[in-house]
Amino acid sequence: MIAQKSIQEVIESAKIEEVVGDFVGLKRAGVNMKGLCPFHNEKTPSFVVSPNKNIYKCFGCGEAGDPINFVMRLESMTYPEAIRYLAGKYNIELEETQSTQEHQEERKLIDSLYIINQFTQEHYQKNLFETDLGKSVGLSYFKERGYREETVKKFGLGFANAIRNDLTGKAQANGYNIDLLKKLGLTRDNGNDFFFNRVIFSIYNTSGKVVGFAGRILNKTAKAPKYINSPESDVYNKSKILYGLYHAKKAIRQMDECFMVEGYTDVISLNQSGLENVVASSGTSLTVEQIRLVKRFTPNLTILYDGDAAGIKAATRGLDLVLEQDMNVKVVLLPEGEDPDSYMKQVGLTKFREYISENASDFILFKTNLLIEETKKDPIKKAGLVRGILESIARIPDPIKRSVYIKECSSRLEMEENVLINELNKLVTQKVKKERIKRQVQERKAQGGDDPFAGISESDAPPLEGETATDKPTITDEFQEKDIIRILMQAGDYKLTSGITVTQFILMNIEDVVKEFDNSLYKKIIEECYALWKKSKVRGAKEFLKHTDNDVRQMAINVNSSPHQYSENWMDKMGPLRSQKMPDENFEADSLNGLMRFRLKKIVRSIEKKQAELKTASKTDQIILLKVLVKLNAVRNELAEKLKTVVLK
Ligand SMILES: [Zn+2]
Repeated sequence: MIAQKSIQEVIESAKIEEVVGDFVGLKRAGVNMKGLCPFHNEKTPSFVVSPNKNIYKCFGCGEAGDPINFVMRLESMTYPEAIRYLAGKYNIELEETQSTQEHQEERKLIDSLYIINQFTQEHYQKNLFETDLGKSVGLSYFKERGYREETVKKFGLGFANAIRNDLTGKAQANGYNIDLLKKLGLTRDNGNDFFFNRVIFSIYNTSGKVVGFAGRILNKTAKAPKYINSPESDVYNKSKILYGLYHAKKAIRQMDECFMVEGYTDVISLNQSGLENVVASSGTSLTVEQIRLVKRFTPNLTILYDGDAAGIKAATRGLDLVLEQDMNVKVVLLPEGEDPDSYMKQVGLTKFREYISENASDFILFKTNLLIEETKKDPIKKAGLVRGILESIARIPDPIKRSVYIKECSSRLEMEENVLINELNKLVTQKVKKERIKRQVQERKAQGGDDPFAGISESDAPPLEGETATDKPTITDEFQEKDIIRILMQAGDYKLTSGITVTQFILMNIEDVVKEFDNSLYKKIIEECYALWKKSKVRGAKEFLKHTDNDVRQMAINVNSSPHQYSENWMDKMGPLRSQKMPDENFEADSLNGLMRFRLKKIVRSIEKKQAELKTASKTDQIILLKVLVKLNAVRNELAEKLKTVVLK
């Protein structure tokens, strides 16, 4: 396990805007920063980062958290993995306490795999520059392609010699475990290397670690496939990797556009020529994960195609997926006989860019034209092809966009708009139905699930002013308890006009019931605050946001990221009272209300208890109970009255 001290150091060092900024393009928006949410599909940014509070919050999908949560969610990391990732980013040396055997081993395994990949890359590169075959075959091939030495090094290019166990032997001589080499697929079961006599392309993940390799054969007469990739492993998941993204991500974010090409070599030559926002799907058809990778940086994807119509048609198949992610997809056909590499070499960067912007056409219209060409020869096919186009359109989440396409397609296909709309509606309905079923299944899973954010949006909204405890039948007092904790977490160190802090004010008034909190988390927090207060210490929002207890920090994140969310709600319900300050701008009234709501709830509870006792009590006890009840009711009414006046003053 990682020592608490180290975790604290990571929490203190990790800046949300820097951590998020590695994945999402952020723009200043007042004191905050904004960008496109990496967790859901959107066109207008609703993903807000607050450097001040060191948290993020998406007002579209509700995702919220601190730097640790962000990497956990985005990169599917566990808590310790996220801590390690951030420690790496901020050069923090982690102190380890005793850890579970299994976990330590898993961690060690992943680290070892990366180390072996690194060794392998260096080995192949050494071969390329230092061995005869590497120089005469590999390096001359790259030079022929026009790659400069710095490019070869930047992209981790190399050469696998003709010796059958060159890598495996050297790795073993250097003390690397052959089982791990096999795990990575670099060594075959028979002890031979996976790659031999091929030029090597390193494949990086988004954060720049080598996860796998691709080898290209140069011997044209060989019967082996032109390219082979090292197999998937614990660190290499092909559907989640886009070739070149690590080197392109910065440019993609800056240009707000991503170009997609087919081959590794195209990515490298375009990058060297100065067109750096380029990635390759590396031959496989696009996956949703790959598209989401791009979407973290930009919603604008332009695909560069070379090749014949049949090839293009096959390639466009994957693009429907892109539409579903609500990306703006454009297609550029390169001049006949040219591929991105050759065309760039021929015309240079400026002309290349010009050609792209002049020839980029919208994907759906591109597809429509392609099909029109085809059906000219075979009109019977037309019906089926129209359906193909409509299926693409049906995947677009935005109905306005859909109707624009329908109009355009109806004129191009020379078909009645209404007919197309009817067909489209059928497809959309089917899709919605399918999604609903899928969602229901997921929801059912989530009910027993472990999503730490499940259900935070609704239950997290603080109660509205004037809403008394009796308005909402709850079994426990959690709602009011939570409200008290929320206030402490938002403004515990805020000084009221009387000169005391919010924490002092609240604790003074609930000292008698501190032990009576129902919810264990709230109880823990209030007792901690109470103990600190007894030592004349008071916590503010910043301290809560840096708490080492994950649950406490999580709650602090939720309450400190919610004002926006509830203010709308608040505005709606307040109606004519809109001039009223927002609760988070008015800590004085807020803490008073919270406190009264809390006390009211506790009193209502005592009343219920006494009433129950009354039923079985003896005559004399009944009289005492009734007296107590009268008093309690008076206090309750007074509180309820006060709550009303505070709200309506
Ligand atoms: Zn979102």
